[in-house]
Amino acid sequence: SLSSSLQNVFRSLRGYGKLNEKNVKDALREVRMALLEADVHFRVAKDFTKQVRDRCLGQDVLESVTPGQQIVKRVHEEMTELFGGAHTDFNLEDRPAGVMLLGLHGSGKTTTAGKLAHYWMSSGKSVVLAACDIRRPAAVEQLSTLAKQEGAACVAPREGDTVPDVAARARREASEQQADIVIYDTGGRFQIDEDLVHELEEIREAVQPADTVLVLDAAIGQESVEVARRFHEAVGLTGLILTKLDGDARGGAALSVHSMTGCPILMTGTGERPEDLEPFYPERMASRILGMGDVVSLVEKAQQNIDEDDARRMQEKLAKNTFDLQDFHDQMQQMKKMGPMENILKMLPGAGELPEQVKSQLGGAGDNMKRQEAIIRSMTPKERHKPSIINASRRRRIARGSGVRMSEVNELLKNFDRTRKMTRQMKKMRKRLPGIPNFP
Ligand code: GDP
Ligand code: MG
Repeated sequence: SLSSSLQNVFRSLRGYGKLNEKNVKDALREVRMALLEADVHFRVAKDFTKQVRDRCLGQDVLESVTPGQQIVKRVHEEMTELFGGAHTDFNLEDRPAGVMLLGLHGSGKTTTAGKLAHYWMSSGKSVVLAACDIRRPAAVEQLSTLAKQEGAACVAPREGDTVPDVAARARREASEQQADIVIYDTGGRFQIDEDLVHELEEIREAVQPADTVLVLDAAIGQESVEVARRFHEAVGLTGLILTKLDGDARGGAALSVHSMTGCPILMTGTGERPEDLEPFYPERMASRILGMGDVVSLVEKAQQNIDEDDARRMQEKLAKNTFDLQDFHDQMQQMKKMGPMENILKMLPGAGELPEQVKSQLGGAGDNMKRQEAIIRSMTPKERHKPSIINASRRRRIARGSGVRMSEVNELLKNFDRTRKMTRQMKKMRKRLPGIPNFP
């Protein structure tokens, strides 16, 4: 991946005691190759490495004590710029604020409409979804199902409605309900054509949304940059949402699309679930690619998914050493809410450098967790509270009850014991990373 090839370049740079113009140029040539391989637009890749070289050679980087790190820092700065510099948010001042989603067929508009509703409603805002893709009955149904799931209002077309009719009615209803945001899910085409542009213009005229956002499938690679450019020319965009960044997209689209269109990336979609949508922070994305980890996102994710009171209660128990197997079980439940282990891993600094074997072991931690939960559920409340009473015959009963081998029960009890002993170290870590749960 782009991330690992760049990390290799930097690792070799750090190995040099002293850098000179030549090894910087060589390293940057490799950076450029890595970018091109990741499907970054050739012009973007070329400008990018030139900028970094100018930054490095123009300043005292080569003379510094840590030239390798200095170069990584410059690359990080330049990459942050490439992603748009500062974070850009939606224009939510109006009430209701209008957000129109548009894009090609299958780019993820309807899914993203549902995700946005989820995102805003979980911060206490009220959302109305407008089903403006009226030609396909399935599209209306898809959106109204998502709306129901999220508890958002959904305005669907009535007999004889035109597309702008639906949009206008949604806006009116949102106004009456004093909703905060209306999201317009529109119809797509396989290609951008006059028909589509006309329809989008009509909607825009009818409701004047503050945001006109292109939903762009990052998995189509290089092509996505061209799509974005043409939509921007034809309808004028206020921002982009990149979807399917969880797949094996090579990431080139994300890297090129801002600089090729001038449109800010507002959010990214990283999966099919309602919660798989994240605000886009150029600096954090650059850190992730360069293997500097993304601890801030991780902490935010943890805080979103973990009940703060619960977390505090656990901390107190840990401190007082009254943390028992029931708590251990509850924490596993919390962990599960954060999503698959692989996603969490990607955000940890240096995780990119872990050997594959370790990664797959950690990836398998999810299955392991399920077994551990089953074991704990086969214990009596008393056993959960006081594991020291679990003798051999109890172990045998628990193993039978949960369908595992006795050695797994032993393993779990041993791990639990070790976890308790680690309390003191953990307390230190929690000070630095509040909200991070324990790993079993
Ligand atoms: P639309 O035609 O633009 O409305 O596209 P849909 O919202 O119907 O999505 C098309 C397909 O892409 C669906 O199967 C979605 O589940 C999937 N999809 C959308 N966003 C993402 C994403 O961020 N990651 C992944 N893996 N799939 C996505
Ligand atoms: Mg759709």
